[in-house]
Amino acid sequence: MPKQYAVIGLGRFGSAIAQALYSANNEVLGIDINEDRIDEHQDIVSHAIIADSTEELSMRNIGIRNFDTVIVSIGDNMQASILTVVILHELGVKHIVAKALNKHHGIVLSKVGATEVVYPDRDMALRIAHKLMTPNIIDYIELSEEYSIEEVKIPDALVGQSLIDLDIRAKYNVNIIAIRHANGKMAIAPEPNDQLKLHDIIIVIGKNNDIKRMAKFK
Ligand code: ADP
Repeated sequence: MPKQYAVIGLGRFGSAIAQALYSANNEVLGIDINEDRIDEHQDIVSHAIIADSTEELSMRNIGIRNFDTVIVSIGDNMQASILTVVILHELGVKHIVAKALNKHHGIVLSKVGATEVVYPDRDMALRIAHKLMTPNIIDYIELSEEYSIEEVKIPDALVGQSLIDLDIRAKYNVNIIAIRHANGKMAIAPEPNDQLKLHDIIIVIGKNNDIKRMAKFK
């Protein structure tokens, strides 16, 4: 069954989230105070309506508590975003995801009822910095402060070598969990004798510092 989402604030972030959820066949209600934003979104979400989310009665009349998840992505107006979360919480919305501009804003949003606080600007900056510092890293998932899973590009110079030749576990204490070939096929739990092909990507798990050393292939 499709899930029902409401996105409050259809700026760059809210709009991208709303469209992604709608493309994945979910019901998405877009809400914005600005009429132009609503006009732009008429055909790219299920419904788009003009409303001020700091008005409790409007939110009640929309039936906001019936949505599985409400995403609050009001831009620079911290006061409006905090007040919106207070109202959603009061009205009994179970899952409230709110965008924070900074740490203090995030702490307040959690205290007044946000179930999840996201920091898209900070997170994107950290991801980009991480990739810039280790050019072979394509993507990563942080498992904890210390450990992560990362996708690492194989330099052309290593094509034809086997996993035994690379000897990544002994050299860097990092484990290869899969290889993704250029045609998109995945080899899960690859064999030690498997040879690396051109444009292969290895998916590894280990300590962040060990992976950083490994990704230089030196
Ligand atoms: P970003 O691009 O960083 O996501 P923007 O400032 O462009 O942020 O977008 C925030 C959106 O939130 C704007 O479209 C704005 O009209 C909307 N918004 C601001 N206050 C309210 C409110 N009280 N109720 C509904 N929408 C609001």
